[in-house]
Amino acid sequence: MSGNLPPGVTPADIDRHYGGGVPDHEHEWMPVEGLSPVLEDMAAIFHEQCRWAEVVDSYTDHRRDETYYETGAECEAERHYRFELAYVVDESGTRLDRDDIDRLEEENDERFETVMKAVIATERAFPEETEVVDIDPDRHEGQVVVRHDGFELGYGGEA
Ligand SMILES: [Zn+2]
Repeated sequence: MSGNLPPGVTPADIDRHYGGGVPDHEHEWMPVEGLSPVLEDMAAIFHEQCRWAEVVDSYTDHRRDETYYETGAECEAERHYRFELAYVVDESGTRLDRDDIDRLEEENDERFETVMKAVIATERAFPEETEVVDIDPDRHEGQVVVRHDGFELGYGGEA
């Protein structure tokens, strides 16, 4: 609706005037559909986008008891954060914490390669071909736990 703009002024003129800038606001983070999380390089990476939009006008339809909003600038901020691989439980039920995995690598233990192959296979198979045990995106206390081909992988937040 451009009915309440002065004669000769279009919504595009208003946009130009404000330079597309977004007023200050608290970001309202929402997961990006289909990208939350992505498993890669021994990490679960969450992508989020701000869904905030400036309300430039509103009016209330009293008969329907509804309020309509006209929105202006939309925030396009994005952020991502990652949970590092915290542990792997292998086919025999042995739990290897990240420290154990790092040590296997340092010692050139052949089990390291087995674990890495399972991690890479699981990350590629996620999410369709894995069993998703838990996805909790809480940055500090959250976790991602998935199972694939006899292995269980756990990724943890910043704690
Ligand atoms: Zn924002």
